Amino acid sequence: MMTNLATFARENGIKYFMISYTDLFGSQRTKLVPASAIGDMQKGGAGFAGFATWFDLTPAHPDMLAMPDPSAVIQLPWKKEVAWVAASCMMEGTDLAQAPRNVLQKLVKEAADMGLTVKTGIEPEFHLLNPDGTTIADTADTATKPCYDQLAIMRRYDMISEICDYMAELGWEPYQNDHEDANGQFEMNWIYDDALLTADRHSFFKFMVHTMAEKYGLRATFMPKPIMGLTGNGCHAHISVWDTKTGDNAFADDDKELGLSERGRHFLGGIMKHASALAFITNPTVNSYKRINAPRTASGATWAPNSVTWTGNNRTHMVRVPGPGRFELRLPDGAVNPYLLQAVIIAAGLSGLKSKADPGPRSDIDMYAEACDVKDAPKLPLNLLDAIRTYDADKELKAAMGEEFSAAYMKLKTNEWNSYCSHLSQWERDNTLNI
Ligand code: ADP
Ligand code: MG
Ligand code: MG
Ligand code: MG
Ligand code: MG
Repeated sequence: MMTNLATFARENGIKYFMISYTDLFGSQRTKLVPASAIGDMQKGGAGFAGFATWFDLTPAHPDMLAMPDPSAVIQLPWKKEVAWVAASCMMEGTDLAQAPRNVLQKLVKEAADMGLTVKTGIEPEFHLLNPDGTTIADTADTATKPCYDQLAIMRRYDMISEICDYMAELGWEPYQNDHEDANGQFEMNWIYDDALLTADRHSFFKFMVHTMAEKYGLRATFMPKPIMGLTGNGCHAHISVWDTKTGDNAFADDDKELGLSERGRHFLGGIMKHASALAFITNPTVNSYKRINAPRTASGATWAPNSVTWTGNNRTHMVRVPGPGRFELRLPDGAVNPYLLQAVIIAAGLSGLKSKADPGPRSDIDMYAEACDVKDAPKLPLNLLDAIRTYDADKELKAAMGEEFSAAYMKLKTNEWNSYCSHLSQWERDNTLNI
């Protein structure tokens, strides 16, 4: 569907467009463009100095142009005179290969060329903190097992219902909201769709949650482990692949183990094969590694994986097959870049389909209690540097994500790791001062 944005503005009373792109670190960047100028911007793009955001560019590079995708325009439900529109980055007439939305679009096309449509649903968890971000905002939210806490979610009814109403208005088909397993933690769910649409919605959802939290005098965070000892913010992805021509779920086969078809198994095989490397994308920050491989939380379980294993309807493994025709990847966290999340799922999955990868036998143990029983299961990276090196060693995944993207992302993330390491921590003082 090609929308003329100037017409869209006239018909919907739009005064300003946010032309928004997402950089390598997942930050959303915008130019606020008056409707009177949107016609030219739709043709020529909005100009940005790419170096000023997280890209591997120099200050000497020519302008990066954010080209609004008119099929991805969303009128802000809370400020109807403004419309957000996802943009794809170009430079000198070609797509900027390292830009996350371009990486995803390329992989969506590769799947389409194989006659396949990847559909995903995500589960973004977040904490509601005080405005200064130091403590959980709700001082009465102190239970050891706070999951699904009825009173605590109702104390946030105004904010949660406002967001849920907006999702319904936008046609996302939201279906549940809950208090999650950590104090101050929530999750809101809407229905799965094509990977690019889910990525755009994921981006807009984060923007919406941050904005609404500010409106209610709170601070929302998707940080993977904002509070040590409590369950962290995951962003599970549920995945199925559909035959574009017939419209059938290519992952569904009632006669196969757990209702997962041969193609579903191969796609899963690709995820399993590349899991330790793709963690660099799904778990992209220093803090991410405090969520996975974590010690037991106060609630009794981390709900985050510690090894590369898969299972049926059992939440202690990296991959869960909750029912026929799909599987859930529980590895990604709240810091994940919405576009790179979808991209790396498709990259690893298609590699599995092409090589007819085997995910190996499933494991049905309680991984939190009996992890020592599967000593041979590959381990997930222990920290960001481990993840960078594991990704660097996976030539196939690097190529599938695009060499230019992979080089740029590794370079910037290595700089980030070095910046972190040059920070003197209290732990070092506590443990080394008297040496
Ligand atoms: P849970 O907490 O049990 O893991 P949720 O209900 O929170 O599950 O989230 C499930 C997500 O999976 C939703 O986004 C839902 O739309 C999505 N989903 C359901 N079926 C499929 C499917 N066949 N393919 C992709 N995603 C799916
Ligand atoms: Mg200027
Ligand atoms: Mg959920
Ligand atoms: Mg959850
Ligand atoms: Mg889940």
